[in-house]
Amino acid sequence: MKFSEWSYTRPDYSAVKKKISDCKSKMQNAGSYQMFRDAWMDVKKEIEYMVYQEEIIYIRHLCGIDYQYSLGEVEIQNREEPSVYALRDECNRIAAASGYRRELEREFGNRIFAHLDQHRAAESSDSIRLQSEESALKLQYRKLMVKDNRDDEALYQVFRKLIEIRCELADSFGYDSYIDLGYLIQGRQDYGTKEPADFRRNIQKYVTLAVADIKAKGIDYDYPPAIAANPGELISAIAAMFKDLSYETGSYIEEMTQKELYDLETRANKRGNLFTCCMLPYEKLPFIIGNYTGNGMETGYTVHEFGHGFAFYTAARKQPLYELHRSSPAVNEIHSKTMEHFMFPYLKMFVGEHKKEYIRNHLMQQLENLAYRCAIDEFEHLMYDRNMSRVQLCELWADISNRYTPWNRISPEDIHQGKCWPRQTHIVESPFYYIQYDIAQISTYEFYLKMKSNYEQAWSDYMRLCSEGGSKSYQELLETAHLSNPFIGSAVEDICHPIVDELYSLL
Ligand SMILES: [Zn+2]
Repeated sequence: MKFSEWSYTRPDYSAVKKKISDCKSKMQNAGSYQMFRDAWMDVKKEIEYMVYQEEIIYIRHLCGIDYQYSLGEVEIQNREEPSVYALRDECNRIAAASGYRRELEREFGNRIFAHLDQHRAAESSDSIRLQSEESALKLQYRKLMVKDNRDDEALYQVFRKLIEIRCELADSFGYDSYIDLGYLIQGRQDYGTKEPADFRRNIQKYVTLAVADIKAKGIDYDYPPAIAANPGELISAIAAMFKDLSYETGSYIEEMTQKELYDLETRANKRGNLFTCCMLPYEKLPFIIGNYTGNGMETGYTVHEFGHGFAFYTAARKQPLYELHRSSPAVNEIHSKTMEHFMFPYLKMFVGEHKKEYIRNHLMQQLENLAYRCAIDEFEHLMYDRNMSRVQLCELWADISNRYTPWNRISPEDIHQGKCWPRQTHIVESPFYYIQYDIAQISTYEFYLKMKSNYEQAWSDYMRLCSEGGSKSYQELLETAHLSNPFIGSAVEDICHPIVDELYSLL
């Protein structure tokens, strides 16, 4: 059945909570591993089905379909979800503390409690209220971003309130700053604040300089036009590529096209410039959202999202639990970004004669993004300060931006008028997420270099990484895929050098 024909029923949140509570008492009174495990699994099934229903309407909301209705439903989700998740986490804590933990880990792997956010141990009615308020602010920000005439003042007010709420949230959990909480929410266990700080320094040293030099040459790197005249033609080209690439990508794209699990049209109320991949648990299928306007680079953004979808689809068929179908963003972005490089041999289908131009732009854009994202990351580490005035916040951003991306000049008037805090939606939607694209970029380049020296090996490493989903830690996954650790030694320099060289050769 096509996605557009799937039915949506608002989850009955009190019934969901009632069922989870029942499971909880079954777990507490279980007389055997089997009984305990089944009740624990039933909690997961309840959540999966709830998320599945929510995702259907969330996708319609993002796509601007039945906009008023879907918006209302998403608002209800935001209100109801935190208390459901609090209950789920209670069950997980019971499992983690129980005598059956060992057996569960033996059956499902040792990552099953890794996502059990420590901070939720201190879950209180206060923090649940704050999380609901945070969700409401995100939604408000999203609404302001879809408007044609952006209202700077209103955006700033939401941004400011978010800083307040998140600082309060950190207080409610007993953390010194929101950074600690933000890291936990991102599920970072393999590195702290020091590693990203070193990483940013390396990017500034090896990437900012090269990009600034190339920019100074004044080369025009406008995006090449795409061959596909409309979303339908783009899907046909992607399907041809995926079918040729491997048996696995072929089966995946077959199901995606049969069920029309994508929406690449532009329309009123659809979030502009958005390219994303939503995951539908229960059906174990992804849904791709994009805004295709015929620009060559957008073909790559779309393939990127289909790459996320492929990884999810693959892991969902190998890993038993929904939580393990994806890893942290630092790994998930390797899946999608590497797929953009597997696309290179097929570029003729997407941009015809503009292949060289496309690769040049792609390399240039990614290197530039490396620097820009480090700027955002540094900003995120300093913005959660309630005492900073609006102008100070702008001064902070201008200073950071000038260091990492000196080619993006910020005018003194904008600083003075308090207009120049970054509009990067990730800061609002998912704090401390953005840098992970950068970390993943280094591994992606490593995959790209491997494709050139040993294509077969690159593909089998890639498949292994996708299949593992989130069943291993970040470090373990890097090892599984024979990738270097981007934080260690001269990895950034060693990997970026040949990429910068290739870029120079294409100028
Ligand atoms: Zn992505």
